[in-house]
Amino acid sequence: MELDAGICKDLDLSTGSVAGMTEYAHPITVARFIMEETNMVEMHGDRALKLMELYREVRRENLVTPPKLQRWAKMLAELGAGGGYLEKHHQKELRVLMEHPEYRRTPKIGTVGAVAVDSRGGTSAASATGGYWLKMPGRIGDTPAYGAGFYADRNGAATATGVGEYAVRLLISRSVAGRMKTGTAQHSVMAAFREFEGRFGKDNLGIIAVDRRGGVGVYHNTEGMGHAFKTGRDRKTTVRISVRQGGT
Ligand code: ASP
Repeated sequence: MELDAGICKDLDLSTGSVAGMTEYAHPITVARFIMEETNMVEMHGDRALKLMELYREVRRENLVTPPKLQRWAKMLAELGAGGGYLEKHHQKELRVLMEHPEYRRTPKIGTVGAVAVDSRGGTSAASATGGYWLKMPGRIGDTPAYGAGFYADRNGAATATGVGEYAVRLLISRSVAGRMKTGTAQHSVMAAFREFEGRFGKDNLGIIAVDRRGGVGVYHNTEGMGHAFKTGRDRKTTVRISVRQGGT
């Protein structure tokens, strides 16, 4: 299993990202280390972890849990049966997995993203993931890709989850931020989705965004995407889980 993460701040256009990290559950900590403690912006995961270990305590661990293993085994048993994520979005990788069983590695999935704006309009974005089930070893998605999986500038911040290969092609987080120059976060997310879905269809993406005035934007065209937001004004946290929006 290989983890990716990326983080950035608009104030000084600082960013850090890490890809393909194993044995450590907090890739975002490593991305932040790269952003704050080095002059680099991107690193290979395990090399980055080694570097961080010189300065921070790192607890290496096996991230594969029994429930994940069970689900992985089930997915392997059903591989190629049709209707799955690989059949839909990664047909060429599916073919490799069918022909080369040694490429069927253990899983780690799930993406978590965050965006924030402070009282002076400073924005930041962060995202971390294990990618998707049965992804190809060595595959890097949108999550550590600045402008694709995460982005923040003076207009706002955005982060994405979903089929990374599509998010990279349209630099989707950058696309949302650019639209926030004139539009609200929600308006910008919807406008970016219209372009995205025109190219890649539905059931493949979720975005959260915040504009510099603190407006929140959320949309996903998938079955579910848990999300929560909190504003300084009302001090309330609003949490929504698996709201079906534009899914097919
Ligand atoms: N975007 C991630 C990737 O392609 C996966 C996800 O968001 O679930 O690696």
